[in-house]
Amino acid sequence: MTSSSDQIVIIGGGFSGAMAAARLAERGVTSTLIDAGGDFGLGVAYSTPFDGHLLNVRSNRMSAVEDRPGDFVDWLGLNHPDRADPEGFAPRRLYGLYVQDRLRAVEASHPGRVTRVQGCAGVIEGKTVLLDDGRRVSGRAIVLATGNPAPRTASADSRRIIADPWAPSALDGIRGDDRVAIIGTGLTMVDMAVWLKARGWRGPLFALSRRGLGPRAHHDHPEAPLPVLPELADGPASARLSAARRLAKQGQWRALMEGLRPVTGDLWRAADAATRARWVRHLRPFWDVHRHRIAPAIAAEIQALADAGRLTVTAGRVVSVAPAGDGVTLTFRPKGATVTESVAADWLIDCTGPGHDPARDPLTGPLISTGRARLDPLRLGLDLDDSGRVLTADGTPDPTLMVLGPPARATFWETVAVPDIRKRIEVLAGTLAE
Ligand SMILES: Cc1cc2nc3c(=O)[nH]c(=O)nc-3n(C[C@H](O)[C@H](O)[C@H](O)COP(=O)(O)OP(=O)(O)OC[C@H]3O[C@@H](n4cnc5c(N)ncnc54)[C@H](O)[C@@H]3O)c2cc1C
Repeated sequence: MTSSSDQIVIIGGGFSGAMAAARLAERGVTSTLIDAGGDFGLGVAYSTPFDGHLLNVRSNRMSAVEDRPGDFVDWLGLNHPDRADPEGFAPRRLYGLYVQDRLRAVEASHPGRVTRVQGCAGVIEGKTVLLDDGRRVSGRAIVLATGNPAPRTASADSRRIIADPWAPSALDGIRGDDRVAIIGTGLTMVDMAVWLKARGWRGPLFALSRRGLGPRAHHDHPEAPLPVLPELADGPASARLSAARRLAKQGQWRALMEGLRPVTGDLWRAADAATRARWVRHLRPFWDVHRHRIAPAIAAEIQALADAGRLTVTAGRVVSVAPAGDGVTLTFRPKGATVTESVAADWLIDCTGPGHDPARDPLTGPLISTGRARLDPLRLGLDLDDSGRVLTADGTPDPTLMVLGPPARATFWETVAVPDIRKRIEVLAGTLAE
């Protein structure tokens, strides 16, 4: 198989892996890009075929290239001029085409620098990746760009329970007036609701999550970021939170979030483990819905469903999910209640998002158990140094193993969206090109 002592082996060909390979090629470094699905450049986010799934970041912030901020808008202007509004929210499907175009263009101008391999990486041994079908790929370093782990599976076994909403044809059985229950009220629930509606489904939707919080919307026009005042960036975390709440109450919470965005990663890095733990336990759900906002047009669709009485969002905890006849019964305890309630549905969709247990992941689990990697204290992911190199059990950076994209969350926090990942790609490419 493709083995060269000089190349980089990248596991995962979504946005992170594909754009890292492109950047490395531009810097003269060869790589092999391994992806299980083989749709290089798309990953989970940009493989949706539905044009109603819009980006949740304005086009002028979605360049895949750190030093060319206008790259995506320019591409839209050439290829889809009707969607080229810099402050608009383009379909995610178009973004996937853009990423694929960039990868192809770099491959054409730097022939032989990127090798694509379709296959599932199963084991990492030293500087070699073993694929599930027995093939081996070796290089001088390995980059884990595997995205978010697969969703947790729902607790009952039934054809009416959709455990992975992104699986091909997952929604095909849902029709007409079918009653749908969704566990999770975040971005995936929103994606499912607008997609079902566009497919002609007319039924009711019951959505449940612990706090019943849904993603907030962007304004039609961007708000200028508020400057990060010293009381937001310095001092005890509780005082900073109070200051942020005070400013948010003055009505400019989006501008506050935008102002904080460039420094969020630094604040996360500077916080001790106890502060991070409190933040994740108590504040994360609130942070997520304000930070990861949806396009105004999508928010309007969700509001219309709620106004028509078709969407009910409830706060509560799942007690059980049980097949019932040709459907499902979801039993839950509403927030603050002592008794449970049940909802009968024709379908249940699990939109609770990825499971996060790197210790059980087939790729990273053995790295942890053998001491080649270690978990961060909150078990959010592998512990890394500032350039994304994996820290071994004794805290030494391993220059042959790096992590990019959402799995680097434990160390960088802001490493999930494109504007943050492309910055990490620059750091990674710089480290590997040296
Ligand atoms: C539904 C959705 C919408 C989003 N919308 C936006 C948005 O509008 N704007 C924004 O900035 N961000 C958005 N994001 C955030 C998203 O995380 C990033 O934009 C980006 O897509 C992350 O790409 P990735 O390559 O790191 O991960 P992924 O896209 O998950 O890609 C990982 C790839 O690795 C492959 N893989 C995993 N394990 C293996 C293995 N063992 N062997 C081989 N291949 C493997 C997978 O098949 C997959 O192709 C969205 C995310 C989701 C889920």
